[in-house]
Amino acid sequence: MGRLNRAKAQAKEITALKDALRQAGLDGALIRHLPNIRYLFHFTGSTAVALLTLERFYLIVDSRYQLQAAQETRFCSLVSRSGVTNEEALVNLIKRKKLRKIGFESCYLPVFHFGFLRRELPSSVKLKPLDHLVEDLRIIKTPGEIAKIRQVVELTANVFDSMIRLVKPGISERDLAAELEHRLTQRGAEQVSFRTIVASGYRSAMPHGIASDKIVRQNELIVFDFGAMKDGYCSDMTRTLFVGRPSREVRRIYDTVLHAQTHTEEHLKPGMKAKEVDRLARSIIEKAGYGDRFGHGTGHGIGLEVHEPPFIGRRQESVLERGMVVTVEPGIYLPGIGGVRIEDVVVVTERGCQVLTPSPKEFLAV
Ligand code: ZN
Ligand code: ZN
Repeated sequence: MGRLNRAKAQAKEITALKDALRQAGLDGALIRHLPNIRYLFHFTGSTAVALLTLERFYLIVDSRYQLQAAQETRFCSLVSRSGVTNEEALVNLIKRKKLRKIGFESCYLPVFHFGFLRRELPSSVKLKPLDHLVEDLRIIKTPGEIAKIRQVVELTANVFDSMIRLVKPGISERDLAAELEHRLTQRGAEQVSFRTIVASGYRSAMPHGIASDKIVRQNELIVFDFGAMKDGYCSDMTRTLFVGRPSREVRRIYDTVLHAQTHTEEHLKPGMKAKEVDRLARSIIEKAGYGDRFGHGTGHGIGLEVHEPPFIGRRQESVLERGMVVTVEPGIYLPGIGGVRIEDVVVVTERGCQVLTPSPKEFLAV
């Protein structure tokens, strides 16, 4: 996308945001969730709050970020604060602009700060919880965003492929995780997108087994679930390997998860409800007799955050649309034996979905 087109696409979002404010009967909205701020204004710093009004968007930053914000940001007027807190600066701005009805992100405004705003603002100012205002825009990715996600997903997959030959009995989960994270950074990741999961043997039955001091032994499953962040966008992938010679049951759960995972990718398409996508994976695992061993949802949206809407679970009613980017990650976990999970990132296309994660998924014993 050229510079002009990108600016147009962004400007469209700004208009959509103002329309959403009007529809909600608001003349302002308070945005403090940093991924939302990054999405709207391209600000990458760690502290800022934004006040959206029908005329103009304001970004309040402190003196540390004055220079950086001036370089990075767009579509907003910068308010540099010094000697006052974000909330004090906000109160001043709200009073000056004579705003009356202000939405706020109820998931991200601490009660402490809410209390301050309530006390300091005139009682005529209404504060109204307003969720998903920016998230609703973020849920559909632009081609530029999809390109960034593809890039970080490929980087992550390449690093995983380079790790496979290090997996052998005697190495600790922690050493594998450290090496993995080191390689991600070397290849250009800004940071990991969440704490790296390396879970071997009995620990692989814990869906979120953060890497521990456990030593990898012969005849064990080992689950790697990890991701990186680059240009603000996240990746998330899971592969499960086997060290040694697998039992029949291990092969059976692996093949079941792989079948559930690929079946879901083959049939996922726009117009489906998230719970129907979940059903694609879950029905196969249930038929194999492991329904009660698959406790989590089948996937989640991914973008500026590693977990973001839409969530793909048993009761999720949201409808998948072209341009959404989600994970597909069924698993089976047998206490005492181990667990298997396989996870790709896919982008919903006009007719189905395209898998972005290039790493092989066939059973691999090392
Ligand atoms: Zn994952
Ligand atoms: Zn995931």
